[in-house]
Amino acid sequence: MDMMRKLVAGNWKMNGTRADGVALARDLAGRYAGLTDPSFDMLICPPATLLAPVGEAIAKSGLALGGQDCHPEDSGAFTGDISATMLGDIGARFVIVGHSERRQNHGESDHEVAAKAGAAHRAGLTAIVCIGETLEQRDGGEALAVCSRQLAGSIPSTATAANTVIAYEPVWAIGTGRAATADDVSQVHDHLRADIASRIADASAVRLLYGGSVKAANAGELMQVANVDGALVGGASLKADEFWGIAKHCG
Ligand code: PEP
Repeated sequence: MDMMRKLVAGNWKMNGTRADGVALARDLAGRYAGLTDPSFDMLICPPATLLAPVGEAIAKSGLALGGQDCHPEDSGAFTGDISATMLGDIGARFVIVGHSERRQNHGESDHEVAAKAGAAHRAGLTAIVCIGETLEQRDGGEALAVCSRQLAGSIPSTATAANTVIAYEPVWAIGTGRAATADDVSQVHDHLRADIASRIADASAVRLLYGGSVKAANAGELMQVANVDGALVGGASLKADEFWGIAKHCG
């Protein structure tokens, strides 16, 4: 992986059987392996049940594998949870932490997200730390303040440009078909870039992804915005042509 290249990451969420997950992964792996000189990095984050078969399907293609969440501890009596160590053991190099669906549905706090990112770092994984405001917060003029607060609370002291990616995902844009405008994204990403300078050495090299209803049709505009270093893609990452269409705008 080359941190100067854009990263296009697919979050499959709770979707996919072994048959269709492996077929999708093979399709993408074939396309990526066919590039003579890839100008973007690509990552697939399938559900936990598909990490092993998807990992096999993309082996040696250059695609990276990631988890969608991890526990803050490395092992222990935590029924149903998966540790970053386990993710690394199965071949994952990334893990998403603090996705808004985890924050909302599982009550995850910034403190817990930072602990999960710290666990990812201990396991040698890159943490993709998600932040983003709700519509109510945006309408109340609090978008930048909320993002700053979440960033401050969710980034552990172990964060470096090499082991941390930040994903700005406004909650109102996730899965709604209503992506943020290029102007909105520009404002937040410029703000985040300045913000991380006081927290992470080599802040200019930290990849800042935008996520929220990214599609092939809007990726061209969004991926051109300064300080946008790639996309975190949910729904559209489940369709090979659509995801590939987004990736093409990251090159
Ligand atoms: C996501 O889940 O991270 C996401 C951005 O979803 P979608 O692309 O479907 O809005």
